[in-house]
Amino acid sequence: MIRVPNNAYSEMTENLYLDYNATAPLHPDAIAAMQDAFHAPANPSSVHRHGRSARARLERARNQLASALSVRASDITFTSGGTEASNMVLAGYQHIITSEIEHDAVLAASPDAQRIRTSPDGVVDLSHLKSLLGGVDAQAAPATLVSVMGANNETGAIQPIQEIAALCKEAGVHFHSDMVQLLGKKQLNLAQTGVDYASFSAHKIGGPAGVGAVYSAGALRPTPVIRGGGQEQGSRSGTENLIGIVGFGAAAEAALKGYAHFAQLAQWRDLAEQKLRAEAPEIEVIACNADRLANTSALYLPFMRSEMAVMALDLAGFSISAGAACSSGKMKPSHVISAMGMADKAGHVIRISSGWNTQREEWMRLAEKLIEMYKSNRDRQAEAGR
Ligand code: PLP
Repeated sequence: MIRVPNNAYSEMTENLYLDYNATAPLHPDAIAAMQDAFHAPANPSSVHRHGRSARARLERARNQLASALSVRASDITFTSGGTEASNMVLAGYQHIITSEIEHDAVLAASPDAQRIRTSPDGVVDLSHLKSLLGGVDAQAAPATLVSVMGANNETGAIQPIQEIAALCKEAGVHFHSDMVQLLGKKQLNLAQTGVDYASFSAHKIGGPAGVGAVYSAGALRPTPVIRGGGQEQGSRSGTENLIGIVGFGAAAEAALKGYAHFAQLAQWRDLAEQKLRAEAPEIEVIACNADRLANTSALYLPFMRSEMAVMALDLAGFSISAGAACSSGKMKPSHVISAMGMADKAGHVIRISSGWNTQREEWMRLAEKLIEMYKSNRDRQAEAGR
């Protein structure tokens, strides 16, 4: 069990960390692998012994990630994270069709994109995608990319990737999936899904932040957005972040052994949700009719604003989040919840996300505290309204 100190400057009070979709604590295997790589000078492009040893470490990490994805190592390009990975793929296309519920890494990189509608359960509407693809003529198809995430970071809703890949193939357009949240939480066989590109990030699975990867099938390559020395087969220049990449490889290998734990997480999450709804049936589980990531629970709390719930839980010893992590401290209503037709509820949604290290007792403890806090808030409001 990992306990994350609240604040290095305050006394060492401890919070239970349940915000793995924002970032996961480092996995011990990643720490050990990185520690082992710390000491030698390591530029994989150098021809001497140190360089060759660095190259071997780099290629080992590539193989570890490729095995976790069931693809060829040569189809993997390391990047500085999931954001750069998606930006590289999108940069290669003039016409982009993407969903309303993507992460900003895709939305901000495709301001002129056509957006696929979302169902109330947070799953992309395939018939709308079909009609958008129907408008792409044969001439425009090679410059067209469909980009739909594997699973949503806020709701956990898993998207119909195989069906989308089939529709794209039929229309003759390429398909990219931001799989940052899917990696490590659900067994992935990328070759079988039929995606042309996929993006990944190390820090969501117990690797370090600042490292990611793009998968590109066969002869396809992601478009270089950083130019220089031509590392990563010319796709991503700059001396490789070897220590980070080594940590990513080790975390990917550890994730392969962790699927049974994720199956348990789904049971504990479901139990916690049942307990909450038994005590307060007005609480809604967002995307409950969709296939969801095993670790994620997004909850609508009618009588509590998200930021209040997050702060109160923080003080009570639990680190969770209000939908997506806010940037520069600003909370804005979630575009994902709004796209699901629940704009009026967006200010009352919290996200609890567990991971490789979460235990049953932790989910139960969180549920108990949330019930207690929510009910006292609700009853106080009811009292004041009387
Ligand atoms: N895509 C999704 C779905 C994410 O959840 C995140 C991280 O929040 C990213 C992309 C960005 O990844 P990174 O932080 O590695 O740039």
